[in-house]
Amino acid sequence: MDIASKVESIKDHELTAEENVKNFLEVIEEKNPRINAFIEVNKEYAIKKAAEIDSRVSKGEKLGRLAGLVIGVKSNINVKDFMVSAASKTLENYRGSYDATVIERIKREDGIIIGMTNMDEFAAGSSTETSYFGVTDNPAAEGRIPGGSSGGSAAAVAAQMCDLTLGSDTGGSIRNPASHCGVYGFKPTYGLVSRQGLLDLAMSFDQIGPLANDLYGIGLLLDVINGYDPKDPTTIESNGTSFTRLFDEERSDLTFGVVKEFHEVTDDPIVDIVEDTINSIKEEGYNVVELPFKYIDLCLPTYYLINYVEFFSATRKYDGRKYGYKIEDVCGEEVLRRIQIGSYISRKEFSGKYYRRALQARSLIRKEIEKVLKNVDVIIGPTVPKLPHKIGTSITPMEMYSYDILTVIANLAGIPAASMKIGKVKGIPVGLQLQAKPLEDWKIMKAMIEIESILKGRG
Ligand code: GLN
Repeated sequence: MDIASKVESIKDHELTAEENVKNFLEVIEEKNPRINAFIEVNKEYAIKKAAEIDSRVSKGEKLGRLAGLVIGVKSNINVKDFMVSAASKTLENYRGSYDATVIERIKREDGIIIGMTNMDEFAAGSSTETSYFGVTDNPAAEGRIPGGSSGGSAAAVAAQMCDLTLGSDTGGSIRNPASHCGVYGFKPTYGLVSRQGLLDLAMSFDQIGPLANDLYGIGLLLDVINGYDPKDPTTIESNGTSFTRLFDEERSDLTFGVVKEFHEVTDDPIVDIVEDTINSIKEEGYNVVELPFKYIDLCLPTYYLINYVEFFSATRKYDGRKYGYKIEDVCGEEVLRRIQIGSYISRKEFSGKYYRRALQARSLIRKEIEKVLKNVDVIIGPTVPKLPHKIGTSITPMEMYSYDILTVIANLAGIPAASMKIGKVKGIPVGLQLQAKPLEDWKIMKAMIEIESILKGRG
């Protein structure tokens, strides 16, 4: 059942919230031991919440917009009394002491949190293989990584273990696993969604956003979580667009941009599918323009340098004095690498050489992508340049980072970006990335609605 119909049938008492929860619990019981999308499931809490909602339905009380929907949360977002471990041994015994703003908003709209999803340790990765709680399998391509770092959140919706999930995206961590698992994932404009309560990886890049099998579900969750939050000074007032209302609107005359340099760094079979989709869009009469992007080579070094410095700083609170273990004593290789390099390049004598240079490069990249976006509404292209590797394949850190070349641009520039499934290569899902100007998140949503209907028509 799609999300829009499910919301209605819960309100009409055709489906109870408790049935919805129990159906998912059955799937989780059956599939999670193999897929490992959830690292904590709070059965009692979810059933109790569902019963409360059902009793309010029978009393005819007014219900929230997410009433009865079952939601999984990435393990780096604070949910009171749930395990907020960031998939690290550092925090294995830490339980959320409060609700992040996004969680408060979800609860206020009667969404039911069912559990915490797996991820790369502290969100530093693109494969979910660095989790202290073991790797997650890709439900859409068994035996392969689900992508990352929000791999558990993507796998959970791909395997029908819940209605919707939250992820976080610092350099692609919502879009990359959405692409590999064949679902939708949306990284909002920087500041559109509150980060209060998120364990930060790199605060100038991090954004929380939704993942789902269902585009309406993405819109609904965005409607609930977006907007100014006095507790997060980087948040901005949204321009009032309702993402779900876009589903009732007429066809748009959006223009699309295609960047050759994005295709050049991408494997051919993926490019072929992306080009098929672009052709179908053209055939429907949309205007598609090709535009150049100069600094593709600068993107990864710039992103990772800033990421290391900000992450190093963010991890200083994990010193083992107040809670958890001292991070350096227990963390995995990748997290340690970032702390060590981050600490090294943060030294005063190097600041001009590395960090300030990276900030200059960041500003060049932002201006360049803004230049492309001046001429079009939405840039479309591949989300990830290669297919997900088989679990256990040994790859170098640079090979791992190269998964991110197309996704980090949106974080460097603070612009909104999403990924939607457009096809498969050898049975493995491939995603289309859409990017737009700051606060034009709605254009991405509108474009996805229209592209989805083109793809459906194509069959
Ligand atoms: N793979 C990127 C990194 O390791 C992005 C991670 C993320 O978006 N959280 O930093």
